[in-house]
Amino acid sequence: MAIILLERGLDMPTLMIRCPNTGQPVSTGLILDAGSFDSLPDKLSVGRCSLCGAEHTWLKCDARFANADSAASCESYSAVKE
Ligand SMILES: [Zn+2]
Repeated sequence: MAIILLERGLDMPTLMIRCPNTGQPVSTGLILDAGSFDSLPDKLSVGRCSLCGAEHTWLKCDARFANADSAASCESYSAVKE
């Protein structure tokens, strides 16, 4: 798995999720290309959410690139159970 962790990166888009507590988009801190995205496991965890301070588990289908036009999101975050 090739995940590049950078504060600022090249032309690589940042992977974003939606914070379930605030409903706002938040960066996962992951900067990766589409090929690397495909190789991600279906369920991942963000470190500490920069918005609410909680640690979220997110599904790959909830994530989208920061430069994506629209979100193709999961039906609900309730699908994530830890
Ligand atoms: Zn959050």
